Amino acid sequence: MLDEPGVGERPSEELLEQDVPAQEPLRCSTCRAEVGDPEAAFSPDGEPVERVFFNPAGHVMRVLLLGAARNLLGRGARSDEFTWFAGMSWQIVVCSSCKTQLGWHFEALPDVEARSFWALLVQRLEQG
Ligand SMILES: [Zn+2]
Repeated sequence: MLDEPGVGERPSEELLEQDVPAQEPLRCSTCRAEVGDPEAAFSPDGEPVERVFFNPAGHVMRVLLLGAARNLLGRGARSDEFTWFAGMSWQIVVCSSCKTQLGWHFEALPDVEARSFWALLVQRLEQG
């Protein structure tokens, strides 16, 4: 169910305004490897950095967008199908230590100029 980011091209109406506390690193909740910093939160379009999407099965996917991340590995083929962000392709990313899927990396398509970023599953992150 987590293999594809979902069919929705736009975030749901439920946008979260909640601020992520600064300073403490974000970690993989499975193995506690550091994967990023709250200060790296990045919005590609001015909308909140934390968003809720639905996958094709209707499951809620709450993600935090980061402009920088670490200890993540790309998995599988990059795709532009069912992308949440117009003009961007995605690839699954896993924790480099425990290989749990933590989210997706988004990258601009060849004819698009946009900064790449990560969308990490909030439920699979912890902080501190
Ligand atoms: Zn891990």
